[in-house]
Amino acid sequence: MVDQAELELFRDNVRRFLEEEAQPHYEQWEKDGIVPKSFYRKMGENGLLCVDQPEEYGGIGAPFEFSVVVLEEAARMGFMALASNLSVHSDIAAPYILHLGSEEQKQFYLPRMASGECIGAIGMTEPGAGSDLQGIRSRADADGQGGYVVNGGKTFITNGQNAGVVVAAIKTDPAAGAKGTTLFLLDTDQDGFSRGRNLEKIGQHAADTSELFFKDMKVGADKVLGRLGGGFGHLIDELPRERLVLAAMAVAHARGALERTVAYVQERKAFGQSIASFQNTRFTLARLKSDIEVHQAYVNECSGKYQRGEMDVPTAAMIKYATTELEGRVVDQCLQLFGGYGYMSEYPISRDFVDARIQRIYGGTSEIMLEVIARSVLGR
Ligand SMILES: Cc1cc2nc3c(=O)[nH]c(=O)nc-3n(C[C@H](O)[C@H](O)[C@H](O)COP(=O)(O)OP(=O)(O)OC[C@H]3O[C@@H](n4cnc5c(N)ncnc54)[C@H](O)[C@@H]3O)c2cc1C
Repeated sequence: MVDQAELELFRDNVRRFLEEEAQPHYEQWEKDGIVPKSFYRKMGENGLLCVDQPEEYGGIGAPFEFSVVVLEEAARMGFMALASNLSVHSDIAAPYILHLGSEEQKQFYLPRMASGECIGAIGMTEPGAGSDLQGIRSRADADGQGGYVVNGGKTFITNGQNAGVVVAAIKTDPAAGAKGTTLFLLDTDQDGFSRGRNLEKIGQHAADTSELFFKDMKVGADKVLGRLGGGFGHLIDELPRERLVLAAMAVAHARGALERTVAYVQERKAFGQSIASFQNTRFTLARLKSDIEVHQAYVNECSGKYQRGEMDVPTAAMIKYATTELEGRVVDQCLQLFGGYGYMSEYPISRDFVDARIQRIYGGTSEIMLEVIARSVLGR
């Protein structure tokens, strides 16, 4: 059971840290299309990366909820790009290594990830393989000396420019279907690895998103993560956490957008009265607030399930689907209450609007979530 008082104290610390260290620079990071590596080190120094990793691997061994708080506070403050970067690093890439890695792999990567020295990325998507990961074409061929030669590439990879290590899904046996995919730890400083450009997006600009290329990249067998041919099984095991953290971000982001809107409607006047006094405004805010709290309760319940090892794939799909759709509704209706000003870049709600959009796409689209849920409902 998490100590709520401790959790809230930690939340205050995270918020203060972000106010001091991220807020003054965030506009610039958005313009640059990337968060500087030095910021990750600062987060590491303050114990804010890979928070629930055991102390022996450089974390602080806190419960999962503490790691989520870091993402929630970034999302609530409207720093969704940063929240995405951090979720991939601390809550997706590092847990893959913690859960699947050999002792050597864990010792090599995890302390450097907790300190912010090595930034992690997840490389699943390819131009021909998004929702349908069976379409992965990147391949690793045995080199006859116990290692592999990797060729191919990935696209849309968050942290792609900053990453020091990529957990990548690669075909080791293209004829074996789902059983022919293996996870590899690809070091980005190795020969044969190159990065494409930092892709231009409509939102979350500070989250560097890139193509990655592998050309005759020589990789030792010690870079196989988990079981040879076990890639898809590992993906399925790790999905609940990935989808749960995206859900927590979604609700926190919706909460932040609502807070920004509440402040605005009390200041702005029309027809001689504040926008907040119109019944439409009051009821809209009331509906959104109720929705946020109901979804928060489900996030909290699912966090408990995850901690107890009870979170299954359909539940993870339900929470990701429900919360990211909620986030979309909230930012849309909040923007409406800003009128024309909501469409202006200088108003943070406009950033909330575009930043939220991708949440219904990455980590599995809403349609794929519905497919997963429907399968569990119908049994087929
Ligand atoms: C900003 C950003 C960051 C990302 N970060 C990462 C990352 O770090 N690592 C990574 O590996 N990937 C990442 N992705 C990729 C992301 O996960 C994929 O874009 C997503 O899974 C969808 O794949 P796709 O783009 O190929 O769309 P497609 O699979 O081509 O889907 C197109 C449309 O068809 C629908 N569709 C597909 N199949 C079905 C079906 N069976 N039933 C009904 N509808 C269906 C989809 O829901 C969607 O509406 C990122 C993407 C973006 C844009």
